[in-house]
Amino acid sequence: MKPAPFEYHAPTSLEQALEFKARHGDDARLLAGGQSLVPAMNFRIMQPGMLVDLNRMDELSYIREAGDVIRIGSMARERHLEFDALIKKHTPLLHEAVPFIAHPQIRNRGTIGGSIVNADPAAELPVLMLALGARLKAKNTSAERWIDARDFFVGMFTTALEPDEILVEIEVPFMPANTGWSFMEVAPRAGDYALMGVAVQVTLDETGKCQQAKLVYLNAGEGPIDAQEAAQLLQGETITDTLMEDAASHASEKEITPFGNVHTSPEFQRHLAKVLTQKTLKQAIQRAGESQ
Ligand SMILES: Cc1cc2nc3c(=O)[nH]c(=O)nc-3n(C[C@H](O)[C@H](O)[C@H](O)COP(=O)(O)OP(=O)(O)OC[C@H]3O[C@@H](n4cnc5c(N)ncnc54)[C@H](O)[C@@H]3O)c2cc1C
Repeated sequence: MKPAPFEYHAPTSLEQALEFKARHGDDARLLAGGQSLVPAMNFRIMQPGMLVDLNRMDELSYIREAGDVIRIGSMARERHLEFDALIKKHTPLLHEAVPFIAHPQIRNRGTIGGSIVNADPAAELPVLMLALGARLKAKNTSAERWIDARDFFVGMFTTALEPDEILVEIEVPFMPANTGWSFMEVAPRAGDYALMGVAVQVTLDETGKCQQAKLVYLNAGEGPIDAQEAAQLLQGETITDTLMEDAASHASEKEITPFGNVHTSPEFQRHLAKVLTQKTLKQAIQRAGESQ
């Protein structure tokens, strides 16, 4: 299929791109990697009047360290995240999970900002933003604001961004000391969207008890699902196999709301969530122990 007719603009600065958004709002769609937007336009699921191509500017393509956080420009490609040394060192959960996104060809073009704003419940990066406690910086022509990842994803393919705003930067805190991580998913084939997936980070205190846990699921509801009650079951405890099973049962039965698709039923997704939670928790706790 071919897309509906649209105007095309390729600004060379963020300022110019923001001007288009200020004048045209949602009718001016930003083109980042085009890996979600272009197929949606070809199927005429989306018919924006104008495309504002962000690829002719360099100012949003960076990954840098600032104190105890990593700052990532929204146009950083998924492939750059995959191989970046800072990310590998300071936020290994992100490093581990990025290769699960699609295929290398798609990661060569797809951007962190495009994936986050696209807010597909089956996507990895929105889940990681919640698991990592990231903040997202939005900008319009007159102001900028930080939005916590937990407030950013407001529904299926829907975010807290205003029509005149561009996501410009993602701030990811360094992984705390004594923390273990794990990301696992099950997909029909490598590179496909997953049927179910979970990102876990667990921080232990000096006695080996759980100080903080994060369990966030993909394809488990209308957006990334942060299983806070299951995490609460672990907090302050020495994590045993029984406790891991309790947390996995709680998250998979009470906190996620999967709706199935052509490849799977909600029941099978809940089963996957339970098994994946136990496996990821086990790996995360082992890694946390090794770092102590
Ligand atoms: C075959 C295939 C398989 C895939 N499999 C997976 C997968 O397994 N997991 C996964 O997570 N993804 C998958 N993807 C999607 C891929 O990761 C996309 O790259 C990503 O979802 C969108 O990123 P993009 O940079 O291409 O954004 P685009 O497609 O260019 O844009 C997506 C949306 O975000 C908006 N946007 C882009 N940048 C900004 C910004 N800075 N500020 C505000 N709005 C912005 C656009 O206007 C558009 O509405 C797959 C894609 C394909 C084609």
